[in-house]
Amino acid sequence: MNKKVVTRFAPSPTGLLHGGNYRTAVFAYLFAKKEGGEFIVRIEDTDKERSKKEYEDNIVETLEWLGLTEDRRFRQSEHVARHTKELERLIKNGAAYVSKEEAVTEGQRSEVIRFKNPNVEVTFKDVIRGEITMNTTDLGDFVIARSLQEPVFHLAVVVDDADEGVTHVIRGEDHISNTPRQILIQRALGYSTPLYAHLPLVLGSDRTKLSKRRGARALTEYRNEGYLPSALINYLAFLGWHPEGEKEIYSIEELVEAFTLERIQKSAGIFDEVKLSWFNHEHMKLLSDDVFLAVLQMHMKGKGVIPSYLTKVLPLLRERAATFAQAVSFMESGEFSFLDDSVTHTRELLLQNGKLDASFTSAHLQAVRGLLAELSNEAFTSEKIKNAVFPYATEAGRGAVLWPLRTALSGKEKSPDPFSIASILGKEKTLRRIEEAAKIL
Ligand code: GLU
Repeated sequence: MNKKVVTRFAPSPTGLLHGGNYRTAVFAYLFAKKEGGEFIVRIEDTDKERSKKEYEDNIVETLEWLGLTEDRRFRQSEHVARHTKELERLIKNGAAYVSKEEAVTEGQRSEVIRFKNPNVEVTFKDVIRGEITMNTTDLGDFVIARSLQEPVFHLAVVVDDADEGVTHVIRGEDHISNTPRQILIQRALGYSTPLYAHLPLVLGSDRTKLSKRRGARALTEYRNEGYLPSALINYLAFLGWHPEGEKEIYSIEELVEAFTLERIQKSAGIFDEVKLSWFNHEHMKLLSDDVFLAVLQMHMKGKGVIPSYLTKVLPLLRERAATFAQAVSFMESGEFSFLDDSVTHTRELLLQNGKLDASFTSAHLQAVRGLLAELSNEAFTSEKIKNAVFPYATEAGRGAVLWPLRTALSGKEKSPDPFSIASILGKEKTLRRIEEAAKIL
């Protein structure tokens, strides 16, 4: 019988994690679920000075928001008794020893526990990179604990992975050089070696490594800006992996279904904000109007209620806003408020602050009004309106015709295109607004 697949995500709570870190969590989660196995979250807090509760909380909150639900979660520090026990076993069987050392700064003597390096070549299988062989001789007798109660990284990782039955270690390729040391410890403790999948790095758009310290954004910022968790999961999954076929928009369930470790790329992925916002827009399109409005309301917290005109412009808003923060800012700027009963026209705006000539502009508005008057109510769609106006605008100068038309309809410097506005206003209001605008010129 095959062993049940167990993967883990093992972040150190020493800073806010970035997209590249969470990409590791996404892969570990997808693989475990695809195989009907378990996904464990292990908070690696052995470095007591640098580990902070606030970072741990942020990790837990982000995983929950993303929907990467773990089967088990624990802190590494909760397992120190086990680490101590295994350290004692290593010392007893001669694989490790207590070493008295000169502390560099204080000139005092202190003790550490070192692993007795057998000086061999270690070969392991990496699902992404194939077989890797490394000589461990240069590593010397490396430190595995500062005392029996203070294991360092390598020992804690090995003992916890074994205790939790981890079958697949999926982690960043910055850990490749740690793997031979960890395998030596596994062997000395009589554990089996899991299968490794070291993921290529994720680089920023400037092609430098994303890092906790170097400006990479924490994922919670995306949440606050109104990105959908489903979009982030989809985007992160596609960062260095893709399924067969052309389809790009996947739900988490579909990703689980499609996921294989073998299709992970060997080259680094680039964290591309533009692509991420495209994914988000696509996922926002999948929401029903009701859900969209509910999420929008959430993002408007403290900024009032959704105005009643919004239901009419919803398709337009949904077409244009790639995040909920963007949707809120469109609304705050009044970009969609042209449905209010009246608009206030000013000569300055209609004439683009004196750039356009008043009598030409008036003539253009009259001409366009004439063209639109010929359309029936049924034909008053954005596309047909555009077809009716465009030949004239192209002939007379697009800016000279479309600017006054748009500002006549919206009364605003910023608004959607005039064809969409006209179709939403309807024929009667459209003609009236054009007349009113022409009158003041
Ligand atoms: N705690 C390590 C890190 O945050 C990961 C260790 C591992 O995955 O083995 O990079």
